This record gives sequence, C-alpha cells and structure tokens, in this order.
Amino acid sequence: MARRVLPVASVAGRAYVDCALHYDRLGFRVWTDSGLRVALSVPPPGTASSHWSHGNLMDFHKPRYTPMSRRRRIYEGKAKVLYEGPEPGTLIQHFKDDATAFNAKKHQVIEGKGVLNNRISEYVFQHLNDIGVPTHFIRRLNMREQLIREVEIIPLEVVVRNVAAGSLSQRLGIEEGTQLPRSIIEFYYKNDALGDPMVSEEHITAFGWATPQEIDDVMALAIRVNDFLSGLFLGVGIRLVDFKMECGRLWENEMMRIVVADEISPDSCRLWDIKSNEKLDKDRFRRDLGGLLEAYAEVAKRLGIMSEGERPQGTGPVLVKG
Ligand code: C5P
Repeated sequence: MARRVLPVASVAGRAYVDCALHYDRLGFRVWTDSGLRVALSVPPPGTASSHWSHGNLMDFHKPRYTPMSRRRRIYEGKAKVLYEGPEPGTLIQHFKDDATAFNAKKHQVIEGKGVLNNRISEYVFQHLNDIGVPTHFIRRLNMREQLIREVEIIPLEVVVRNVAAGSLSQRLGIEEGTQLPRSIIEFYYKNDALGDPMVSEEHITAFGWATPQEIDDVMALAIRVNDFLSGLFLGVGIRLVDFKMECGRLWENEMMRIVVADEISPDSCRLWDIKSNEKLDKDRFRRDLGGLLEAYAEVAKRLGIMSEGERPQGTGPVLVKG
C-alpha cells in the first residue's frame, strides 16, 4: 500500500489533521489517523459515491456478513447469482446447484454441485492470482460464495482446446480424443437468445465487443491459464481436454486491465482421467452418464481440496428465491 502523509484540513465539515493517505487494494484513497483508524475512504473515480468508516481499517480478510435476505441481487445466471458486495467495487458470487446444458433446455438440480464448484474455482483462481495471472477473485467467503471484484464482463466465451471433443468434433468431424496439433483458441458471443454463436476477431472488433488490444490481452491470458491448468491437472492424473473462460475489464483509478473472471470448474472444463479417459466434468450430465457429483468430488479430492469421504454438504446460506 503506497503511503504518504497528507494533512486533511476539513472534509464534509469534519477536521482531519496529520492523517496519512494510503491506497488500498481496490484503489480507494484511505486516510488513517496515527492509530491507523480510517478517517475517510474515497472510492476511485467512476465508482460509487464516497463512504465513511470510523474506527475500523477496512480489511477484506475480515468477514463482513450481510444476511442474504438484505443483499441486493445484481444478476442471476444459470449456475450462479451475483450480489452486491460489502465494499464498493466488490460483488459476492454465489454458486447454485443447478446444472444446465444445451442453452438451458436440459436442467437439473444436483445437490452439492455449487459447493464443489465454489471450492474448485477458488483453488484455481487463488493459484492464478499467486502466479501473477490477474483475476477477479479476492477470497472465498463460505461453502457457496466468494468475494470478487466487480468487473465489466467482455461478452465473449473464450474456449481453449487441447484435444478434440464436443462441438469441435461435431463441427469438423474430428474424432473425440484426437490430440490437436496445437492449442486452439475460439471465441463465442455470449448471447443466450442466439445460442452463443462462434465469432471471429473481425466480428468482435467490428461490433465493438472488444478492441484488438483487448483481444491480444485475452489471448495472452487464455494461453497462460491453459498452461497453468494443463500442468495442474496433469499432476493429478487428469487431461485438460478443453475449457471455457471469461474475461472482464477491471478499473483501478484511471487504469483498466483485463482479468480472468466468472469461474473455472468441472462445469466449464473437459477433464478426462489420464489412464481410463473417464469423464470427470459436466459431460456426465450433458450425456446422461450419471455420477456428476462423484466426478466433481474426485477432481476436488485429487487437487487436495476435499479429503476422502468428505461430502459436499450445502451448509452455506440458502438461496432466497424470488
Ligand atoms: O461444447 P464445446 O465443445 O464448444 O465446449 C468447449 C468447452 O467450453 C467445454 O469445456 C465446455 O464445458 C465449455 N463451455 C462452457 N460453457 C458454454 C459452452 C462451453 O463452459 N456455454
């Protein structure tokens, strides 16, 4: 945190002297007194209005729990809900148990799936943060929820493929399981009504969904995430066949950078056991193979997230419907 001493004569009728100015992790300007208590906190330009906090240094590692019934729901998707977060610029990402496929034509509630995806996605995003790949992830809050930074989602699904499967095999007639000559990156326009059509860079720039520079950044991130995930899963006997990721624009003061957003979990990856080729991902649901929860738990177990025999009970807050 950058720190410089700056006397604040008077703000909103209150006198603050000999305060020190800091910048916190979200780009807030925070003035603290000599006891390091927050006198005033001002969000970066372009975010919500400034807010006051007396006597507490804002700390994102302390639980700051708002009952679900009092939270403002920002967005509800097929498998997740986004709520307003405890501080401006933050959101709470809640993982539901809903499994959907074929643009939500197929739907089932699989108890415990949200808990497993929350844990697996936390594991992946925390490691990405640790190796310097920027993400929206701050920390996990409970069994079903994580604290994330609010980003402006780029309306693209970025798919990286290492082995032929799914729609690539269907579209090009390449047998599932064929190793691709190199990793292939594809873009799909996020639009449920259109069934997320595949698009080219020409479409993306012509329609203004992202600039050429942003596409370069997204591709560089996709390659780094693919390298990291391939190694991570290989180490636990799993082949990363393909995966989907999403990116967002994160504003910090006047600066913007592209970060990895949404989730990375067996819902959004194809994961095959190295030896048996057993599917350990959402294809178990898409193809009516059964055993989805067991497969996700196996991934979690191999990553060392959940111990043998541990059940993914949904003991987190219950989703308030309506
Ligand atoms: O269906 P397709 O072969 O194009 O999927 C490629 C990858 O993207 C798979 O890992 C799949 O789970 C993921 N995906 C996703 N969400 C979508 C479409 C695909 O997570 N809406």
